[in-house]
Amino acid sequence: MKSLRQLYKIGHGPSSSHSMGPAYAAEALLRRVRDPDRVKVTLYGSLAKTGRGHHTDYALASVLGADRTEVVFDTETTDIPHENTLDFEAYKNGRLACRMRAISVGGGDIEIEGEGVKTESEVYPERTFYEIANTCRKNGLRISDYVIEREGRGILDYLARVKRAMWDAVDRGLSTSGVLEGGLNVERKAQYLYEVGRTNERDAARENRLVCAYALAVAEENASGGIVVTAPTCGSCGVVPASLRYISEVEGFDDEKIIRGLAVAGIIGNIVKTNASVSGAECGCQAEIGTATSMAAAALAEMYGMQLDQIEYAAEVAMEHQLGLTCDPVCGLVQIPCIERNAVAAMRAIDALSLSRYLSGTRKISFDLVVETMYETGRDINEHYRETAEGGLAKLYTDKEYYK
Ligand code: SF4
Repeated sequence: MKSLRQLYKIGHGPSSSHSMGPAYAAEALLRRVRDPDRVKVTLYGSLAKTGRGHHTDYALASVLGADRTEVVFDTETTDIPHENTLDFEAYKNGRLACRMRAISVGGGDIEIEGEGVKTESEVYPERTFYEIANTCRKNGLRISDYVIEREGRGILDYLARVKRAMWDAVDRGLSTSGVLEGGLNVERKAQYLYEVGRTNERDAARENRLVCAYALAVAEENASGGIVVTAPTCGSCGVVPASLRYISEVEGFDDEKIIRGLAVAGIIGNIVKTNASVSGAECGCQAEIGTATSMAAAALAEMYGMQLDQIEYAAEVAMEHQLGLTCDPVCGLVQIPCIERNAVAAMRAIDALSLSRYLSGTRKISFDLVVETMYETGRDINEHYRETAEGGLAKLYTDKEYYK
């Protein structure tokens, strides 16, 4: 498995696969052809169908230069190697200087045809939770110690940056109001939810309200193109920061505990990315929000000092009950249902943690099995529900204002 640096990317939203990945691919093109006169980029599959809403064209133009970039949304071609395929043609001095095909495989990673995935080398020989747990048990390590052993102590500094970027996104989101761009007229609600509490509010209601406010804050930042951390993707970037920040505030957990939690969350995200997918275009929202919920639940279990079995149970429960979750972003924007979905998932992560305290000894399903199941389910989900904005809410929603 790759370094956690590869999983947690700090950058602009709204989409790791549809804006970050294509931007990285454009940078790769400019390393091949310096200063081209003109670049034509053809988007296929999910990129073509939801690229406008996900700002793929802006992301490409921001790297290549708006005045020399032509973006074609080809929704007809189906003979493509992956749902997120894009072709570049760069022209220089009046002739075609370079053709390059790239695939945005999810989480901001790209694969250039003929080169493979452009990422760092493998730093973890283990690939599954089972293998990692065995290594930890044999050597008397917690998973966070195992991360430090494999990556070196430098990873702690990187995770401290990740934590700061996550907390900053919460703060920015909580202090911003207004309507999100895109045409759906979606209002930012994090600030309202944060401030609306009553003096006689019950503890459970307060917890839900604050966790949701934090998740909305980050997801709204993402929707507006603000800086977020892929955890594991941009669309699902609110789940981990919301649940970790809320629980840290309540319990007084310090930075070291939070960073160790992020290390464990990163391992969970890496296991899914390695053995299945974190791409909504490939496996639906279960791959994004489902994985984010598992990451958050496992991180919380680590922060409470829980045992390996309990960490695994928390991650497993969090994913198992989101199997089949579809991706149907209205108008191809990362707004409905994505923003609220982050809030609901952050609460679920805390629920999964609660169950794992008492029930881990009774479980029959391993985390690895639920990951395998998620992947198979995702491959079976009709393509209308895999980030094409052709099914579900994206199909049935109209701008009739039902509730007025
Ligand atoms: S529905 Fe889920 S997978 Fe699809 S764009 Fe929204 S957050 Fe991402």
